[in-house]
Amino acid sequence: MFELIDSHAHIDEIEDIGSVIKDAKKNNIAAIIAVGTSFISNQKIMHLSEEYRNYVYPALGLFPWNIADEDFRDNMQFIRDNIKQAVGMGEIGLDYSKGIKERASKETQKSIFRELLKVAKDNNKPALIHSRYSWHDCLNICRELQIDKAVFHWYTGPLDILNQIIKSGYYISASPAAEYHEDHRKAIMAAPSDRLLLETDTPVTYCRGTELEYEARPSDVLRTLNAVAKLKNEDKAVIANVILKNTREFFNLY
Ligand SMILES: [Zn+2]
Repeated sequence: MFELIDSHAHIDEIEDIGSVIKDAKKNNIAAIIAVGTSFISNQKIMHLSEEYRNYVYPALGLFPWNIADEDFRDNMQFIRDNIKQAVGMGEIGLDYSKGIKERASKETQKSIFRELLKVAKDNNKPALIHSRYSWHDCLNICRELQIDKAVFHWYTGPLDILNQIIKSGYYISASPAAEYHEDHRKAIMAAPSDRLLLETDTPVTYCRGTELEYEARPSDVLRTLNAVAKLKNEDKAVIANVILKNTREFFNLY
């Protein structure tokens, strides 16, 4: 048997958390990285990480679309005050889809992203990056600020930018969309296994609009592993061990 870590989970959005954690443990999920997105979400994440100590590890963040929230500055302060107890900074990043740009302009998003990355760097924490339609800017800003550790979560961008991500020493993570999403599948095939993490992005709904539709939970990281092993034509146990090692190093979890 092998162990897996869900490197990106919005468990603050799950109601029956006790049974979800129990189920994850039963499925050999060794740890869950809980990612925050707002002031309220970050507070919940910190509570959950205390309740499930040494199993749920907190990352603190700010979704690009929450920049327009009233309590956004309180969130920035909360992140600064609590980042030392977290294993990472995220979910942070840029989102250039139309609806989001209407809430927060590209320039506003970039300046907040820089501010957060500096806090991550000063505290020696890895960055968990949301880069929808903004892959190039996210990468450039990470390089400009000389960020050491970053993961481009659920990467679906172009392969030339992926190559630069890898060359810069960064990672990408695979989600359960590895079963069917073509751009995501291409990226996973192109990325070396030692630069891959696994995730579920729970409670995201996958296979939407089909009879296979389901809402992911951390134990579905097994689905991600199966899809990745198939795409890479590698033995599941072998790849699971490589990725477990990557993930422990990335988050400094031992
Ligand atoms: Zn997410």
